[in-house]
Amino acid sequence: MAHTNGKSYAVIGGGIIGLALAHKLTLTFPGARVAVFEKEPEVCRHQSGHNSGVLHSGLYYRPGSLKAKLAVDGIRQMKDFCQEHGVPHEECGKLVVACSEDELPRLRDLLDRGTQNGLQGLRWLGPEETREIEPNVAGIASVRVPQEGIVDYEQVCKTLQRLIEAAGGSVLTSSPVHALEPDGTGWRILAGQREERADFFFNCAGLYCDRVLVMAGEKRRTRIVPFRGEYYMLSEEGRKLVRNLIYPVPDPRFPFLGVHFTRMIHGGVEAGPNAVLALAREGYRKTDFRLADVADVLTFGGFWRFLIRYPSMCTYEFYRSLSMSEFCRSLQRLVPAVEKRHLSPGGAGIRAQALTPEGTPVQDFEFVLRPNALHLINAPSPGATAALAIADYLIARTSAL
Ligand SMILES: Cc1cc2nc3c(=O)[nH]c(=O)nc-3n(C[C@H](O)[C@H](O)[C@H](O)COP(=O)(O)OP(=O)(O)OC[C@H]3O[C@@H](n4cnc5c(N)ncnc54)[C@H](O)[C@@H]3O)c2cc1C
Repeated sequence: MAHTNGKSYAVIGGGIIGLALAHKLTLTFPGARVAVFEKEPEVCRHQSGHNSGVLHSGLYYRPGSLKAKLAVDGIRQMKDFCQEHGVPHEECGKLVVACSEDELPRLRDLLDRGTQNGLQGLRWLGPEETREIEPNVAGIASVRVPQEGIVDYEQVCKTLQRLIEAAGGSVLTSSPVHALEPDGTGWRILAGQREERADFFFNCAGLYCDRVLVMAGEKRRTRIVPFRGEYYMLSEEGRKLVRNLIYPVPDPRFPFLGVHFTRMIHGGVEAGPNAVLALAREGYRKTDFRLADVADVLTFGGFWRFLIRYPSMCTYEFYRSLSMSEFCRSLQRLVPAVEKRHLSPGGAGIRAQALTPEGTPVQDFEFVLRPNALHLINAPSPGATAALAIADYLIARTSAL
């Protein structure tokens, strides 16, 4: 419900969540001053512009978790938003495919989870029915998720920026926030050459959210460990093997969904992403290296505990990142006719994944609420799908203050 409160709000980070939040702030508090601070010259330069472009429903997430609630609400809101503002999207449906007997119980669990999370129209399919939908898939069973789809998230971000500005808010690009100083009733925000004041700020800094937390004088319990996800593009011949979205059954210990095939909204099919440690938080090439980022990971006990707990997964992901043949073999489990000659290197994205000091990847969305500040400290997939619902949720948490 909209009401005027005369406050000023700052949002740090012009990714899809920061922009969705600023947009919803302008709707909820029409008289308030809303400013987004983005360090890059344009919005959507990091996770929100380097992802798979998939609209996820609530299939994977533990019933009752924030991810489950906000993905279900979020996909509905995102589709309505795209519809209303002419953003390209398509509800093409997805198949999650079991390729071996041992994956069947996990696929059943997913079906149960999806049903408990309120997804409509989920169907368990045998091998023949699976191949009616995706003729080149090798699975022994699959679950079809009809409401999932594909979208142009960059266009979503540009539209959000336009709406924020039209409502009187500002999106301050090339404005890296480097200091946050409490002033009794709010904060002084120092960003490049700018100095602004806000009664309340939201930290939506994605890969840098833990550093912004520290900037505000907090201790970080979890730490962002950047995981690069690399993609290959399918050639014109290879594309004929994939109609829509083909996903494996994920390993529930990890928040990553496994390498999959994604038809993209503007044409072409991507295969990926894998999940390897990135040596720079915004390092999109294998060779990118930033000492401060590497030191941050290596001095964190949680990272070493993660390596000790999951040595084979870590070694395998590293090997697969170096070997195109191995990447292709993972894809062939789902679609055996895919060959190396169909693949050419595509882009990459870096996930901001929070790890606990015990070495466990934080699965759910997580935030820290403080006087006059809220820090979103874990917002991995399906964060893009759920952005508008996350925004509502965070505003509701702070409105009570
Ligand atoms: C490889 C990959 C595939 C994915 N696939 C999907 C998918 O298909 N569907 C889905 O729903 N989700 C997907 N996700 C997850 C989704 O992309 C993220 O959950 C979402 O983009 C997070 O948005 P954000 O705004 O929090 O972060 P970001 O988009 O990373 O935005 C954070 C912004 O903060 C800015 N910033 C940082 N520090 C400062 C500072 N000090 N001052 C000012 N600005 C700052 C950064 O420049 C950046 O623009 C995927 C993610 C990855 C990496």
